[in-house]
Amino acid sequence: MRLHFLVCFVLLAFCGCKSVNLFTIEDDKTFGANVAAQIESDTSGYIVLDSIKYTQVYQYIYSIRDELLNSGQVKYKQEFPWRIRVIQNDSMINAFCTPGGYIYVFTGILKFLDSGDQLAGVLGHEMGHADMRHSTRQMTQMFGVQLLLEVVAGKQEAIKEVSAVLIGLKFSRNHETEADNCSVQYLCPTLYNAAGGAGFFEKIQALGGIKPPEFLSTHPDPGNRIQAFNKKKEELSCKGNQTYKDEYQALLKLLP
Ligand SMILES: [Zn+2]
Repeated sequence: MRLHFLVCFVLLAFCGCKSVNLFTIEDDKTFGANVAAQIESDTSGYIVLDSIKYTQVYQYIYSIRDELLNSGQVKYKQEFPWRIRVIQNDSMINAFCTPGGYIYVFTGILKFLDSGDQLAGVLGHEMGHADMRHSTRQMTQMFGVQLLLEVVAGKQEAIKEVSAVLIGLKFSRNHETEADNCSVQYLCPTLYNAAGGAGFFEKIQALGGIKPPEFLSTHPDPGNRIQAFNKKKEELSCKGNQTYKDEYQALLKLLP
């Protein structure tokens, strides 16, 4: 691994290719597991909904995840754990995914959304970031390689530093567009409205001048994301049109 890494590093220095990912799939998984352990051990900062007490909540969200995973479009379906945890914080209208597929959804975004297709769209977007391996690429540019390697190696200080940033990590517009496209692709073979992710931005638009929630500041708006979602859905001839609003409203009643 180290030799492979060194060769890549030399190549990177030589050609200056910013998009080269220096991390292996195993690195992504270890990275994600270490960050997830850090987040979940910080019980004063993050209250994770108990998976036994809130079984129905998790069953619902996992059933959406499974539809996305079974789309045949998720590259690392088998390799990544795609584990989901809900964090109780109504003021955070946000969701994020670590490298290696540890997904976090705040109750704030669950309560902000109206329907199952919107949640599926948001989950698809986050899973897309992990599947396209955006985070490690983005963070290599931010932190340099050494610190990230320390995260993979399990060094606590590095894990703490990187975890704090990962939650609010800003992606480039290209990566946002890619993740939006992934969301439509994953949903396309299902009965869900494949442009469900657009519903989130429609709700933001409807809010007018209100300060954009966290999700938007960490996922910069390139301007036409609603149109882009719908265009991609049309391009791929996705037939599903279900919004699953009633089921979603039932889910909201189960939340603390
Ligand atoms: Zn994003």
